[in-house]
Amino acid sequence: MANNIVVLGAGVSGLTTAYLLSQDPANKITVLAKHMPGDYDIEYASPWAGANYMPVGKEGSAHHKWERDTWPALKEITEKYPEAGIHFRGTLIYNRKKDQETDTGKWFSELTQPNPWYKDVVPDFKNVPSGQLAPGVDNAQEFTSVCINTAVYLPWLVGQCVKNGAVFKRAVFKHIADAANAHHGGQKADVVINCTGLSSKTLGGVLDDKMYPARGQIVVVRNDPGPMMSTSGTDDGEDEALYIMTRAAGGGTILGGSYQKHNWNGIPDMNLANRIMKRCIDVCPSLVKKGQGIEGLDIIRHGVGLRPLREGGTRIEKDKVNGVAIVHNYGHGGFGYQASFGCAYAAVSLVKEVLQNKSRAKL
Ligand code: FAD
Repeated sequence: MANNIVVLGAGVSGLTTAYLLSQDPANKITVLAKHMPGDYDIEYASPWAGANYMPVGKEGSAHHKWERDTWPALKEITEKYPEAGIHFRGTLIYNRKKDQETDTGKWFSELTQPNPWYKDVVPDFKNVPSGQLAPGVDNAQEFTSVCINTAVYLPWLVGQCVKNGAVFKRAVFKHIADAANAHHGGQKADVVINCTGLSSKTLGGVLDDKMYPARGQIVVVRNDPGPMMSTSGTDDGEDEALYIMTRAAGGGTILGGSYQKHNWNGIPDMNLANRIMKRCIDVCPSLVKKGQGIEGLDIIRHGVGLRPLREGGTRIEKDKVNGVAIVHNYGHGGFGYQASFGCAYAAVSLVKEVLQNKSRAKL
């Protein structure tokens, strides 16, 4: 018996969920979205991400499990499918205890602590000997992570889904239940998977007022400094961040950033951009030629994305709205890629429960 499934949203959450579900030929999947890979829009977080794997979930939480479960999948894709646009990259993390009460310091508190759970997940984890730490740095670690070229990876996911028979259509919905009537087979969908990110705040039938943005501003440059790096905070503001990551396959280097909660402004702030570039060069002088400052950066573009944060954490849950079975998978803040497979596995197992109940009801 065929399962008619609608995935609403074509960011990394919707595409990863559709990718897993499309591996079962019994699933007839329609992916519906206002924005698709190739678009750059303030309502679409996924293209703006770095994106790398720097775990932030607190030990013992569901978030920890989602990130832990995602690493093997990203590693396998990196090794088996170079065309997916992911590469391994050395990573350096610097922690300053004075950042621990700031928004950025709290966001990165698991990442920056000296004995994190992920030391047993990522390869080559080691603490930097204290004698080698720069002034002001309390501890530092290095490991091998991945960096994802989102402009290659998102279309790769679309390609995998299409190869497995999924159908992609542009559509905009005011109410989640309406998406059930837009399955390409012409019949009502058995289940709608809600992967609308920050728009779950305003989407009828969901209206989740726990959703809010954390604004992330970036500068994309052609310079390539080598390893990725991140610090626990900056001296420029409690909601500013410092990270550097070079994407795979010519995707340029992302200089970040900011973590501005409840800020919806989609226009790059050039003063913030200057601070981002300056502090990246301060911590990583090899970004530019010797003696150069910001003028040594070859800028591709400035960008702003809104991380879809949710008070109380990501929502992966079954629901019923106007008689339509829904599985929610939204609210992934700044970790949508590094938790993508873990969250999608959890959503897929809820979809299976919905479909089993449907089969039982028909017997
Ligand atoms: P989105 O990408 O926002 O997709 C939502 C989808 O739903 C879109 O297709 C949209 O069109 C569709 N949609 C919404 N409403 C409707 C509607 N009513 N009708 C039809 N379609 C609708 N994460 C990491 O793991 N690692 C990183 O290094 C990282 N870096 C980041 C850096 C920045 C600057 C930013 C902004 C984010 C970063 N993130 C990172 C976080 C990550 O980008 C997000 O968590 C992730 O993209 C969220 O994906 P999503 O699919 O849930 O939502």
